Amino acid sequence: MKLNFTPAILYFQRPFKIAHGVRSSTNIVLTQLEHEGIIGFGEASMPPYLSETHETALSFLNKAANLLSGFKNSFDIEMIIKAIDELAPGNTAAKASVDIALHDLLGKLQNKSCWQLFNCEKENTPYTTYTLGIDEPEIIKQKLIEGNSFKTLKVKLNGENDKLIISTIRSLTNKPIAIDVNQGWKDKHQALEMINWLQDKNVLFIEQPLPKENVDDAFWLYERSPLPLFADESIQRFADIDKVKNCFHGINIKLMKCTGIFEANRMISYARQLNLKILIGCMTETSCAVSAAAQLSPLVDYADLDAPLLIKNNFFDGIEFINGKITLNDLPGIGVVQKA
Ligand code: MG
Repeated sequence: MKLNFTPAILYFQRPFKIAHGVRSSTNIVLTQLEHEGIIGFGEASMPPYLSETHETALSFLNKAANLLSGFKNSFDIEMIIKAIDELAPGNTAAKASVDIALHDLLGKLQNKSCWQLFNCEKENTPYTTYTLGIDEPEIIKQKLIEGNSFKTLKVKLNGENDKLIISTIRSLTNKPIAIDVNQGWKDKHQALEMINWLQDKNVLFIEQPLPKENVDDAFWLYERSPLPLFADESIQRFADIDKVKNCFHGINIKLMKCTGIFEANRMISYARQLNLKILIGCMTETSCAVSAAAQLSPLVDYADLDAPLLIKNNFFDGIEFINGKITLNDLPGIGVVQKA
């Protein structure tokens, strides 16, 4: 892509936290990349387990701003993203915020949506799952009523009241369930027993059943599980795909883990070659990063992108969920408008 890109200025807002209902809040930094008055928006969302903080993100973004101001010729996004990645190891969410802003700007400069830049069919978006946390039966019942329009559920389990939670849901609805254990089953035999119990309960897949360190146990479970197993915490970036391809049936790709849209798209292509199933997910994020991820959603099997529904201070309008289906708009870039 040969577009004039001189100079681009990276701004970042004062760090803040996303208000997240009764749960703990998440550190966020929003970025803006400006070129001749056109602004690309980006977002870094930093869950504690990836060990980025407001301080590390601001430090990295200062370096990124210096680097971007030095690009004088063309908008070669691959070259820019490679240079950003090489600035420092780690910092995947801060890198994603630059990547998202670059793609938003690139789309706006060409007056194209990112889903068009990636040759996606807009209608091929999946339904997002609707998240149910680990709660008492009465709260689960209430949330099922609130999420009545969604077609697929995401249920978190942790090994404590798993059967009660699933039985409560199944007494009310037979909607397909994606289960996310978040490494919560500590023993492979316990995990297999639960998966066997779940196998006739319309469960789509089990995400990250065991701690990510237990690679041998992951392989043991993979060989025996009657339900597909997806890696989440066990995989971050492109280079990790080879480490999980023989012990999971699918992978959960998140922009904040993999440094953004550019690498996520490469991961989707490679996972397809390997016949791995693909889930695109998110952290606690505003509609900025979620709309960015949704641009690639026509290329994947499943989506878990309901974060904007779970937060209280969303600063963007972006993609919508119509009866749970991810619905892309025709706005250029990542498809977001900053709220007044
Ligand atoms: Mg997960």
